[in-house]
Amino acid sequence: MKLIGLTGGIASGKTTVAAMLRELGASIINADELAREIVRPGQDAWKEIVAAFGEAVLRDDRTIDRQKLRNLAFKNDLLRKRLESITHPRIRALAKVKAAQFAAQGAEVVVYEAPLFFEANAQVWIRPVILVACDVAVQRQRLRDRDNLTTHEIDRHLAAQMPAGEKRKLADFVIENNGDLDDLRRRVKDVWDKIAGSQQ
Ligand code: ATP
Repeated sequence: MKLIGLTGGIASGKTTVAAMLRELGASIINADELAREIVRPGQDAWKEIVAAFGEAVLRDDRTIDRQKLRNLAFKNDLLRKRLESITHPRIRALAKVKAAQFAAQGAEVVVYEAPLFFEANAQVWIRPVILVACDVAVQRQRLRDRDNLTTHEIDRHLAAQMPAGEKRKLADFVIENNGDLDDLRRRVKDVWDKIAGSQQ
């Protein structure tokens, strides 16, 4: 079984590429889903987050208000690191479990889709890594169209991310996503053929 990383900036097209890879036969693990899974009420990560951030991050039903938590962590570097030290190792452990489950079911290629792939240093245990990248102008337009964000909100999101240039240096394959979906599908197939054909 080959385990491949998939990442990219906000609204770069990760989920769209993951869907195309699924059509080509890959099984997908989504880090966002794992992040939600590990903070369910009563779990260790939930307990540690409540201890670190206080009950103010809980909704009435005791689930974590992830938006509120993100906003708190966004404003304070120490808190963000604390949050990452609680969540990242558990997300990684769960990703390994899911990958093993897919392997046991006979999956040949498993893709781990994670927005903060490089920030979590996942390239240390998953290679190759595919980066989906697009021009900032395209990224802004897609964010505007999809999420209805203001220019100020878009600036904030983009400023909080690792610069695209740094991600490009860390990636093994870069899929440029500035064209239409047919163009993207061709590029995805191209990378798929290279990975599926390699002996790694
Ligand atoms: P996020 O980081 O927010 O999870 P993402 O990187 O997963 O986003 P997508 O949701 O795949 O990005 O794409 C962002 C938006 O741009 C979506 O509305 C998607 O349909 C659209 N989109 C992506 N690629 C293309 C393309 N090549 N042509 C047209 N629209 C596209």
